[in-house]
Amino acid sequence: MTVAGVPRHDAEDLDPVRISEQQFERALCHIRGIKRGLIDFLRKPKRVTIVNFPIELDDGSVESFQGYRVVHNRVFGPGKGGIRFHPDVTLDEVTFLARLMTWKCALVNLPFGGAKGGVVCDSKKLSEKELRRITRRFTSELYDVIGPHKDIPAPDLYSSEQTMAWIFDTYDVLHPGYNNRPVVTGKPIEMGGSYGRHEATGTGCMFATKRFLSRGLIPDRQEIAGASVTIQGFGEVGSMAARAFFREGARIIAVSDSKGGIYCEHGLDPVAVEAFKTEHATVVGMADTLTITNAELLELECDILVLAAVENQINAGNAGNIKARLVVEGANGPTTPLADNTLLERGIPVLPDIVANAGGVTVSYYEWLQNQANEQWEYGQVMDRLRDRMFAAVDAVFDRWQSFVVGEVEAPAAKVLPEGGRELPDLRTVALIIAIEPVSYTHLTLPTTCTPCRSRGGGG
Ligand code: NAD
Repeated sequence: MTVAGVPRHDAEDLDPVRISEQQFERALCHIRGIKRGLIDFLRKPKRVTIVNFPIELDDGSVESFQGYRVVHNRVFGPGKGGIRFHPDVTLDEVTFLARLMTWKCALVNLPFGGAKGGVVCDSKKLSEKELRRITRRFTSELYDVIGPHKDIPAPDLYSSEQTMAWIFDTYDVLHPGYNNRPVVTGKPIEMGGSYGRHEATGTGCMFATKRFLSRGLIPDRQEIAGASVTIQGFGEVGSMAARAFFREGARIIAVSDSKGGIYCEHGLDPVAVEAFKTEHATVVGMADTLTITNAELLELECDILVLAAVENQINAGNAGNIKARLVVEGANGPTTPLADNTLLERGIPVLPDIVANAGGVTVSYYEWLQNQANEQWEYGQVMDRLRDRMFAAVDAVFDRWQSFVVGEVEAPAAKVLPEGGRELPDLRTVALIIAIEPVSYTHLTLPTTCTPCRSRGGGG
């Protein structure tokens, strides 16, 4: 059996909701004094909104649509997270993604809680006019649920800058007399979008990798310059990561998309690959490259493997064959828990998604700040701030991980190994610990009768 062309092990549970639960449980083992009731609270969303609404389609027929908006937590500030338009959107999926956003925002010290939303619809089969009507009506249904200081949507699967422009406009009509620009991020530049948002996640991956390498965990590889890099997925994250790694002097030896991959030992020029992809709708077939499968790309010998496509790509079926020295998760959930175990045993670190792809929400935060001050920051200013915040997040994870290694911190519930030592947490578990701790401690120190919401962090 395969996962989108990649081998898998039949017995492995690939359900993203249960995977996220396992990862949460692993992190909890290392957090002292967290109370059972609080764990139950953090498992669940704070608020769930389900709406149904009818839309007239272009042919005059009427269809009923269902949409969700979930806020998982808002102890540090308003909810933040995307809105996806997809036929497979479910409340469970949106809920677990909202929780992931809580941890991501906490890890990079953003004054947001986690949120996510979606409308169950097949955007590929809908006209632009129909999508506009759905977006406007969905926004009207959420008119008192979202807001610049309540809950701030962003683009996600099959939603775009255009979708954000429609949401802003609809919300603005319903709330006249206020500066409503910060109600959504990922807007077009002319409507208050930030420079650098498009490349934020991919470039953030590069910054996170750069800092991680500089900490010296990978022998003879302390910088990106000269590193061989493979990238699975050549969409927004993968192509921008390719550009960023290339600028730092890396050799991009392979990239792929859903149709397959290309390999060139001497290195690919990401701008030329983008141009080819724009023309041919795939990277496959570019001149002077060897065509490979996605499964082959994952198992290539290289310094850095960037996963920027879909979930469960490294799993029990192929983790033993990965030859990269470092795996970087640009996508959400591309490595399964069983694969995490195998890679840990094999000494291949995984820079986890909540760190590696946090660049997107970080620049969304900068957009929100710019909108409130009615400012437009220069591109370089955005990137400098992004770099600093990504470096700080990696340092926090690395330092905490090291404290486990040198034994400063003893994990209360860590597995005792047969040879006497204790199992060390991987970087994902450490990142989650760092994210969960401040959220849970803040809940415990706040009086239970007030609405908790405190502001943290500066502009990075
Ligand atoms: P995208 O749709 O722009 O690109 C996805 C790319 O992956 C495309 O090139 C597609 O062809 C390719 N792909 C799809 N299935 C594949 C497969 N089985 N094997 C190889 N390639 C495959 O999406 P994106 O915005 O680049 O997002 C990629 C991932 O990063 C997603 O998991 C997304 O949730 C995550 N992410 C994105 C952002 C962001 O700012 N865009 C932020 C955080 C996380």
